[in-house]
Amino acid sequence: MALVGIAKLAAEGPLLEAKRRVQYFEIAARSILNRTKPNMPFQWTINPYRGCEFGCKYCYARYTHEFMEMAPAEFEDKIYAKTAAALLLRQELRKVAPTEHIALGTATDPYQPAERRFGRTRSILEVFARERGRFLGITTKSDLVVRDLDLLREIARRNVLSVNMTITTLDEKLARLLEPRAPRPALRLEAVEKLSSAGIVTAVFPNPIMPGITDSERSLDRLAKEARNRGAQSFGGGPLFLMPSAQAVFLPFLEEHFPELAAGYRERFERSAYLDRAYKDELRTRIHRIRERYGLASGPIDYRPELWAAEEQPTLFEM
Ligand code: SF4
Repeated sequence: MALVGIAKLAAEGPLLEAKRRVQYFEIAARSILNRTKPNMPFQWTINPYRGCEFGCKYCYARYTHEFMEMAPAEFEDKIYAKTAAALLLRQELRKVAPTEHIALGTATDPYQPAERRFGRTRSILEVFARERGRFLGITTKSDLVVRDLDLLREIARRNVLSVNMTITTLDEKLARLLEPRAPRPALRLEAVEKLSSAGIVTAVFPNPIMPGITDSERSLDRLAKEARNRGAQSFGGGPLFLMPSAQAVFLPFLEEHFPELAAGYRERFERSAYLDRAYKDELRTRIHRIRERYGLASGPIDYRPELWAAEEQPTLFEM
């Protein structure tokens, strides 16, 4: 079958490096700012990469590789760096109204290993450092974010900035299983501390919260307490959501590592990508109680990834 659109571009992109089984490519994007659906806490998203080497087993963003006719597992093996990201951003910021919020890192981690080589996230921050009055939120699982402390401080002087660190668990072994190539939770907490000490507003996100794995009051409480102790101001939290492309990786993972949970998950998620209302309500109450205990605000971003980044696709297809 002949490849078209972004699948063709992906196949033709020059292979820049092979490291372990991960391959890095560059891909031309026509646009870097993507509009979200209405009624979201942010109106625009920026994803400097396509794919994410951290390879979280629950990752919802695997669907972005389906558009390139790739298997869900290739999401973590084939990483695409978008070219001319800063140039595009400078041009496109004109269409962002002063009150609109921009989220960086909704379908990829902006500080995954590729960032050390390509520096696309840093180039984007250099643009924001010259702006004023913008609302920017950065979400990551990587302590590499502290590399950009100089720019983050500069941005925070004249804009409203928050850095959201995702930490699903403090259990190092569990984190290694769930997020095989992401920095250890301890490193992420250290990054939160460095950022908050430098005056950057930080949040800790335990997303996605996974039933029977990371959703216990004890586990979330420990996490919130650490977040508070390291200077985070808010603690967001939302339940797991599994589209078919994410199920293809997560359900076999459960069968291997959590066989006692696998049948229940399969039964729940084959009915719907979302957990039921009763579970969500209970979780919301639990998170609220924990936040109150530690004086943390609610997260600046609702965990609704199904609404975040889908509109990126048409832009790239138009290339
Ligand atoms: S860090 Fe985020 S984008 Fe990357 S694999 Fe994990 S969940 Fe997906």
